[in-house]
Amino acid sequence: MKKSPEKRAAEAAHLRQRELAKGDPVALPLTMASMYHLPGDPTGVRQYGRFDNPTREAVEKLLGHLEDAEALAFPSGMGAISAVFFSLLKAGDRILLPSDGYYTTRVLAERFLNKLGVTHDLRPTASFGEGGFGGYRLVFIETPSNPGLDICDIAAVASEAHAAGAVVLADNTTMTPLGQRPLDLGADVVVAADTKAPNGHSDALFGHVASHDAEIMKAVAEWRKLSGAIPGPFEAWLVHRGLETLEVRFDRMCSTAELLAPRLAAHPAVKALRYPGLDGDPSHNLARAQMERFGFMIGLTLKSEAAAERFINGCALLQPATSFGGIHSSAERRARWGDAVEPGFVRLSVGCEPAEDLWEALQAALEKR
Ligand SMILES: *Cc1c(COP(=O)(O)O)cnc(C)c1O
Repeated sequence: MKKSPEKRAAEAAHLRQRELAKGDPVALPLTMASMYHLPGDPTGVRQYGRFDNPTREAVEKLLGHLEDAEALAFPSGMGAISAVFFSLLKAGDRILLPSDGYYTTRVLAERFLNKLGVTHDLRPTASFGEGGFGGYRLVFIETPSNPGLDICDIAAVASEAHAAGAVVLADNTTMTPLGQRPLDLGADVVVAADTKAPNGHSDALFGHVASHDAEIMKAVAEWRKLSGAIPGPFEAWLVHRGLETLEVRFDRMCSTAELLAPRLAAHPAVKALRYPGLDGDPSHNLARAQMERFGFMIGLTLKSEAAAERFINGCALLQPATSFGGIHSSAERRARWGDAVEPGFVRLSVGCEPAEDLWEALQAALEKR
């Protein structure tokens, strides 16, 4: 029997306790070290900061517990994605990416994978299963997609892609291991930007790769060690601290988003709204079946670019910013980065503010002229 995400979160708070000796600090110590005391035979102990660090090992253990898989930490979400690409792919491979996912992943493929002989195709998340997976070495899914919030059937994609011989990688950044379990649904590898909700305080970049496949993890670990894509101990410590409150924050953020989505959808200033938890949303039925929660991101389209900018910059409880998942609600117009969305499309990341106060502030900003 798989443990529920709640059970894993409850255990996570006491994970460290199991290893404490009497007199040890309860909180995780921050170990800043590049060198370790290493006379004579260097085997079997920590050797050098690029290979080993106790603070990083602790955050990997915690991430691994939440993922229910082995986890390796990276200095950013893109660092984690790059590690999987560059450790698994070789010249002649084809990969499939979502056309509507996180933009930087596609640019990385165009600018760096293609010139090494790895080609890629793009497909929209909402129809990701159409067209089959024959000929692909790696199939990359991001569901819900960022920023459009379309979703694809993880279990169906995984079984068809496996039948075609592909490795299935899921970018689970928007949902975290508490909100969606791609590995349990059949994906081979999860990557995530812990920069977002897992750290949650908008003060660190971080990422991880998780998988049950020992061969994949061995390749990713070796790539990290040789390429030097190592997160610093302080970031590891910050993310460990953030993860300790992830369940409380994520629960509040998702619950508030569930409350706000129908109210915002019914507001006359809102032209269209996407939220997987909303009855009638194109993602809703599949979201009910495969997600643990509906997430904390809402996509809302206002009447114009000017209306969207007024809303984002004029709301007392909204932080205008790119990125998402922080304790403070934040928003931005994605068209400013060239995403294929309407000029009035706003990506709203619901934070931890008390829900009714946030609703009042959002409503006031929508009504401001
Ligand atoms: C932010 C994000 C990333 C990249 O994370 P960084 O920490 O900024 O490198 C990757 N995928 C998704 C879906 C993201 O939202």
